[in-house]
Amino acid sequence: MKRKTAIVLIFCVMLFITACSDNSSEPKKSSADFFAMDTYMNITAYGENAKQAISQAKKQIKHLDSLWSVTDENSEIYAVNHSNGKPTEVSKETAELLTFSLKMSKRTKGAIDPTIYPILNAWGFTTEKYRIPSQNEIKSLLKRVGYDKVRLIDNSIQLASGIMLDFGAVGKGYASEISAEILRNNGVSSALLDLGGNIKTIGSKPDGSEWRLGVRNPKGKGNIGVLSVSDLAVVTSGNYERYFTGKDGKTYGHIIDPATGQPVENGLLSVTIIAKDGKLCDALSTSLFVMGLDKAIEHWRKYKDFDMILITDDEKIYLTNGVRDKFSVNKDNNVKVNVINFK
Ligand code: AMP
Ligand code: MG
Repeated sequence: MKRKTAIVLIFCVMLFITACSDNSSEPKKSSADFFAMDTYMNITAYGENAKQAISQAKKQIKHLDSLWSVTDENSEIYAVNHSNGKPTEVSKETAELLTFSLKMSKRTKGAIDPTIYPILNAWGFTTEKYRIPSQNEIKSLLKRVGYDKVRLIDNSIQLASGIMLDFGAVGKGYASEISAEILRNNGVSSALLDLGGNIKTIGSKPDGSEWRLGVRNPKGKGNIGVLSVSDLAVVTSGNYERYFTGKDGKTYGHIIDPATGQPVENGLLSVTIIAKDGKLCDALSTSLFVMGLDKAIEHWRKYKDFDMILITDDEKIYLTNGVRDKFSVNKDNNVKVNVINFK
């Protein structure tokens, strides 16, 4: 009897040890860091096929970068921008991105406009040779801006004379959606894609808890708060991300108001958009930053297909109903939080 108990005990101990050392219930983690689309990217994914899925996604992002780079002479956008009004055949991905981009230009009444390139170029944001263009120069370049001057028939793009495209405001969001699809097709059900601050999450963390994302303090260092999400995209735009200080001592940011040709200066420091679709988040974060606080709130109340966190230069945070319980401000930040509700 005693021997039997001892055998059962040994068996139980062995079972316990095997259970502890067996981490098959925890999916395998894979991660990759790389540079593409002018920014640092990281993809972390869990699951048996995660490693090969990440490598496929990375390859696809590099491919999209090679199609959409405005400075690479071999890119499709370079060919379109130097086509002198002739129709140019492009890939399905580029045609889709332009279709989406033009749709968002209409939706935001031109706050986001892919034809902003000549103005970006004049300020040096495409080459990092920064300068302050004169009012006259901007006035004449604004004649070359207007999304209504772009024709897309099937996969062929035709630009009116002097018009040039830039997908800087939507390309990363689009790439995040395409990459997430590659991961999902490989059986990945838990992943975090960080394409230069353009975040896309698949599912929740492997332990079932939500992803906790820091929202950057646009004025100081570190984060202003933490946002908990699962299966959502989170994209932030702000002029603090890329800017230069002019000879006049003023800082000029990389997001331009297409109505004036000037870097946006409207009291907003950052706009974070939260929604299912990463490309929608990317397009809206840029365009609502251009619109300013009041119009951004109006836009949310009209469409209601996203949530947002707006940070203003008078130390206030405005967030929509859907994220009020998902966002917590860090204790050491003395900011006032206002919740935006439906009317
Ligand atoms: P994001 O970081 O997504 O807000 O996009 C900003 C980038 O989009 C800039 O670096 C420019 O390349 C480009 N851009 C700036 N202003 C605009 C605008 N009003 N519409 C479209 N693209 C813009
Ligand atoms: Mg954007």
